[in-house]
Amino acid sequence: MEEGLKVTFLGTGTSQGVPVIGSQHPVCLSGDARDKRLRVSVLLSWGDYNYVIDCGPDFRQQMLINQVNRLDGILFTHEHSDHTAGIDDIRPYFFRQGDIPIFAHKRVVKSLKKRFDYIFKDKDRYPGAPSVEINYVQKDHEFEVGDRLVSPIQVMHNRLKVFGYRIGGFTYLTDVKSVEKEEFEKILGTKVLVVNALRIEPHHSHFNLEEALAFVAKVRPQKAYFTHISHLLGFHAEVEKSLPENVHLAYDNLTIEI
Ligand SMILES: [Zn+2]
Repeated sequence: MEEGLKVTFLGTGTSQGVPVIGSQHPVCLSGDARDKRLRVSVLLSWGDYNYVIDCGPDFRQQMLINQVNRLDGILFTHEHSDHTAGIDDIRPYFFRQGDIPIFAHKRVVKSLKKRFDYIFKDKDRYPGAPSVEINYVQKDHEFEVGDRLVSPIQVMHNRLKVFGYRIGGFTYLTDVKSVEKEEFEKILGTKVLVVNALRIEPHHSHFNLEEALAFVAKVRPQKAYFTHISHLLGFHAEVEKSLPENVHLAYDNLTIEI
């Protein structure tokens, strides 16, 4: 079932992206392409299916760079802007395909309805506005995307409940600070784990590098990739060298097969 899943890291940066506008930090000035990080998102592809997890402000650019010409749906982790602000740019897909399926917790849908009211309106719609098909994600309820089963994993982003997603042997968790035991058990046995590692210093709502490494050591996947990275984590090339053999920093446009 999990064979043939292709994961493309569309963005691996934290909320402001890397470089940060106007920053003179050496990592922001780096010439290494792996130090340039768009807002966090992944593309999941298998067969003819393409799904993205989150749809941040760099969504349009990410779809163009990776030539994603058809989109089957968007799985949202939570409502923060770095994960949702690009939703207006589903318009080309909507024009060609019709309503675009979105998968999200009801709190996230409520937030999207408030911020993008024209997308969700039933009456007096603006002719160019896109439209979505809402699929509510609930804790402990697996759901289907394409022909695959997805398990939502509820993790804590400080006090905000955020969903990570597991598809077969692949688990994607971002904006995590803690995971309750019963949710942690849903991750066990995963082959490839993606999890956030923000920076070296501790942070109130994201794992820092040390916490992310400790989490990987507990999950024991075959391979782990870190994402949602700030310039404050350091240069890609240097941090990568310091990691255990089965742990890597993700970088934009990296593709892995599971
Ligand atoms: Zn975020």
